[in-house]
Amino acid sequence: MSFLEILNQYAYPGVRDQIEAATGSDVERALSREHPDVRDLAALLSPAAASYLEPLARKAHSLTVQRFGRNILLYAPLYLSNLCSNGCRYCGFSAENRLARRTLNPAEIQREARILYDQGFRHVLLLTGEAPESVDDAFIAAAVRQVKPLFSSIGIEVYPMEVAAYRQMVEAGVDALTLYQETYDRELYAELHPFGRKRDFDWRLAGPERGGAAGLRRIGIGSLLGLGDWRTEGFFTALHGLYLGKHFWRSQLTIGLPRIRPADGGFQPLHPVSDPQMVQLICALRLLLPDAGLVLSTRESAALRDNLIPLGITQMSAGSCTAPGGYGEAEEGGRQFAIDDERSPETVAATIRAQGYEAVWKDWDAAFLSRAF
Ligand code: SF4
Repeated sequence: MSFLEILNQYAYPGVRDQIEAATGSDVERALSREHPDVRDLAALLSPAAASYLEPLARKAHSLTVQRFGRNILLYAPLYLSNLCSNGCRYCGFSAENRLARRTLNPAEIQREARILYDQGFRHVLLLTGEAPESVDDAFIAAAVRQVKPLFSSIGIEVYPMEVAAYRQMVEAGVDALTLYQETYDRELYAELHPFGRKRDFDWRLAGPERGGAAGLRRIGIGSLLGLGDWRTEGFFTALHGLYLGKHFWRSQLTIGLPRIRPADGGFQPLHPVSDPQMVQLICALRLLLPDAGLVLSTRESAALRDNLIPLGITQMSAGSCTAPGGYGEAEEGGRQFAIDDERSPETVAATIRAQGYEAVWKDWDAAFLSRAF
């Protein structure tokens, strides 16, 4: 059974009501269980659980240390292009926005990659919009092959692909896929994606499964926080994660927690998520998915990022630029969104170490693959 078939068994408003209705005793039961189930998840995400943030945080912290040690993996995004034919209402790269469009050439890709390498990064995430006429599978695979000698791990956050194209990415050197559903609410999804290939909710939803089938070693999912109701989005994200963990157990699951930031187009969050709610979401996800990597980007402030380290976060970006070519130049191409934590990678690493954690630049090498699989 695909995850689409599972998702179709749930009604988004019904799940939201179930979460809203959870009581303090439901939360206490969920907290007392060694292996919480989806009913417990609803309780942990509920308004009632806001009064239990301390025990929730303690449990999330202890599970994270048990499974991951005191380690935070650092990675950097590298934007290859900001061309996009989609009209996502919340994104600076939307085709409806007028911004300087740019696709990096091989020399520019090399320069950007080298800057990140020299900063210490060995994990890189390559990003593009969706512009199939110029930024296609072959372009992305060529970029991967080009930067491969510099990085031990290469992720892609691009448009959803066919299994064969994901296999082509694996062959080129990609080990990690990030593909956020943005929202699991079909109606809202249709409103926010008025045109372009991204309108196809089902095709996108099945993308992580196709990535798993192609043998990608890490699969990243998530909702864009601020679009749908964060509690219900958290529920479906965890459900999706449980499904992927069961069917693609050879791949590590990661969950991103991107919260909407100011961007061209001026989109405002429909359901803002406060910092304490962010904490609750992270802790609930950790309790349900103890082995999932939880990823926090520079969308969040330095202070919040520092505070979230002990609660369950395992990966962080640092020193990020969201414009193609922006590491080597003064953001010549338009950026996707404004970042908040503007500290240098070394400062972020020093802050992580000051909290008694290891800042990890490289946690995996492709050479391990033949032994692990
Ligand atoms: S979110 Fe992605 S697909 Fe949508 S407009 Fe932005 S870059 Fe394009």
